[in-house]
Amino acid sequence: MLKARGGHSRSDALIIGGGHNGLVCAAYLAAAGLKVTVLERRAVVGGAAVTEEFHPGFRNSVAAYTVSLLNPKVIRDLDLPAHGLRVVERRCANFLPTADGRYLLTGDGRTPAEVARFSARDAAHLSEYGARLDAIADVLRDLVLMTPPNALRGGWRAALPELVRAARVGGRLGRLDIRLRRELLALFAMSAGEYLDRWFESEPIKAVYGFDGVVGNYASPYSSGTAYVLLHHVAGEVNGKHGAWGHAIGGMGAITQAMASAAAARGVEIRVATPVREVLVEGERAVGVITESGETLRAAAVISNLNPRLLYLNMIAPAALPADVREHMSHWRCGSGTFRMNVALSELPDFTCLPGRALADHHTAGIILAPTLAYMEQAYFDARSYGWSRRPIIELVIPSTLDDTLAPRGQHVASLFCQHVAPQLPNGASWDTHRETVADLMIDTVNAYAPNFKAAVLGRQIMSPLDLERTFGLIGGDISHGVMSLDQLFSARPMLGYGNYRGPLRGLYMCSAGTHPGGGVTGAPGHNAAREVLSDFRRGRLRRVA
Ligand SMILES: Cc1cc2nc3c(=O)[nH]c(=O)nc-3n(C[C@H](O)[C@H](O)[C@H](O)COP(=O)(O)OP(=O)(O)OC[C@H]3O[C@@H](n4cnc5c(N)ncnc54)[C@H](O)[C@@H]3O)c2cc1C
Repeated sequence: MLKARGGHSRSDALIIGGGHNGLVCAAYLAAAGLKVTVLERRAVVGGAAVTEEFHPGFRNSVAAYTVSLLNPKVIRDLDLPAHGLRVVERRCANFLPTADGRYLLTGDGRTPAEVARFSARDAAHLSEYGARLDAIADVLRDLVLMTPPNALRGGWRAALPELVRAARVGGRLGRLDIRLRRELLALFAMSAGEYLDRWFESEPIKAVYGFDGVVGNYASPYSSGTAYVLLHHVAGEVNGKHGAWGHAIGGMGAITQAMASAAAARGVEIRVATPVREVLVEGERAVGVITESGETLRAAAVISNLNPRLLYLNMIAPAALPADVREHMSHWRCGSGTFRMNVALSELPDFTCLPGRALADHHTAGIILAPTLAYMEQAYFDARSYGWSRRPIIELVIPSTLDDTLAPRGQHVASLFCQHVAPQLPNGASWDTHRETVADLMIDTVNAYAPNFKAAVLGRQIMSPLDLERTFGLIGGDISHGVMSLDQLFSARPMLGYGNYRGPLRGLYMCSAGTHPGGGVTGAPGHNAAREVLSDFRRGRLRRVA
C-alpha cells in the first residue's frame, strides 16, 4: 500500500468528472494513500445517477433509475451500506400487458405458471434457459473487474503481461464445456430476437427477455449484437440474487451520495461546479488540467470520467494527440435511442388487463409496454425513418411503491424509460422543438394500457437525447458513453491499444463507462482504472507530487 503524506496544495491524481465511476476511482486511490481531487462540472456529483426534486414534493432518479449492475466488490470495498446505501428488491420482476388484453407477470416462484398460460412448452424451457444464461453471465461477472488484454505494442517486456491477461481470459472460457462455449459464441454474435426464437414460441416471454437486448440500445431486437446487450443486463444482481433488478432507497442519487461520502471519508477533495476546460499537456505527458475559470491544477495522474469522445476531441489540443487517436474517436459511435421522463402521480395506474388502483405486486415491477419483439423492431424502424417511434417501447417503474421517501403519502412518482428515438432528428430538426410532442406521445402510450394515467399526472420532467447531452455530457444522450457493440467492447473500449484504462499520453487515464465493461451503474471502470493507476505509481511510472 502507498503511504499517505501531508500537504493539500497539489494532487497525486485529478479526476475530471464526479460521476459514479469517478467517485469510485477516487475512493480506491485515496484508500491507497494518494491525494486525490475530483472536479465536477455540475453543482452535484453523481453524473447520470442522481436524485432530484422535479415537482414540488416529488423526487426521483433523473436518468439511471434501477439497480442491478452495481458490483458487489465495490459495494463491499467502499462499505456503501455504512454510508447510507440500502437496495431493496421489487416484489416481482416484470409486468407485461399483452396485445390481446392479457398480461405476463414474472418473478420469484411465479414465472413458470405465468408463462404456461401462453405456452406449456415455453414454461418447460425456462429453467434450462435461465441456467445456461446464468453460466455465461458468470463469465461476464468474472471479466468485469479485469483489465482487458491490451493490443500488443513494444517488445516482449510490454507484451508479456498482456499475454498473461489474454491467457487468463482463455483459461476462464476454457472452463466452460463445449455446449456453453457454443452458447457464448451465439450470445456474443447473434441478435436477441434470433436467440430467443431458438428457445421460446410465445411472444410475451420473448418480449420480457428481449427488452434487455434493446434497453439503452438503439437497435432492433433482430440486430446482431443485441444478444450481448441482453447478457450485459442479466449479469447483475441485487443483494446476491443473480439477474434481479432493485431500487436504491432515495433513488439512484443515494448510491452516488454514499460513494461521495466514502470517498470524502478517505480524504478525497470533491469540488463541484468546477468544469474542466482542458487537459494540460507538457512534453507528451498529461500534467494537470485547466478549469473553465482559468485555474491550473497539476497532478501526476489525470483521470477522465468523461465520454472518451469528449476527452479526445474537446479537451486535448489536437497537436498533442496521435492523429490515429483523434481519427478513431471521431468515429466513436454514440446514441442509445432513449427518451427519459419522470412523472408525479396523484394515484397508481389502473391497468385494463389487471384492474386496481390499490398498490399490488405488479405496480412494483419493471412494467414493459411493448408486447412483442416485432413491435420493438417496428419502434426502431419508425425512429430511423421519422425520428421517434409512433408506438414506442416504454419501461415504467414506480419506485414510490417501494420507497416512501420520494412522494407525498398516497401519491407516487414514476420513471418512464422510453425508446426508440433518434439521437439526432432527421433533416436537422431540433429536439427542443419536438420534446413536448414526444412526451405527450409517451403519456398517451401508457394511458392506452391504464386509462387513468394521463389524468393522474401532476407534473413531469422530460429528458430528450439533447437534454441528456446538455445536462450530463452524454453525447447523443448515450447512456453508456458509447454504443455497446462488439467493435466498441473489451480491449476495443474505447480503442485497441488503449483498452487498459491508459490513454495515449503518459499520465493520462480513463475511468468512465466508455471503458471496459461499459455502461450502467457498475463502478467497475472506476475500480479497474484505479488498479492500473496504482500499479503505475508502484512501478515508478508515476511519481507522487502531493
Ligand atoms: C436516461 C438514462 C437511464 C439509465 N438507466 C440506468 C439504469 O436504470 N441502471 C443502470 O445501471 N444504468 C443506467 N444508465 C446508465 C448509467 O447511468 C451510466 O452508464 C453511468 O452513470 C455512467 O457513469 P460514469 O461515471 O461513467 O459517467 P457519468 O455518470 O456520465 O458521469 C460523468 C461526469 O462527468 C461530468 N463532466 C462532464 N464534463 C465535465 C467537465 N468538462 N468537467 C468536469 N466534469 C465534467 C458530468 O457532469 C458527470 O457528472 C442510464 C443512463 C441514462 C442516461
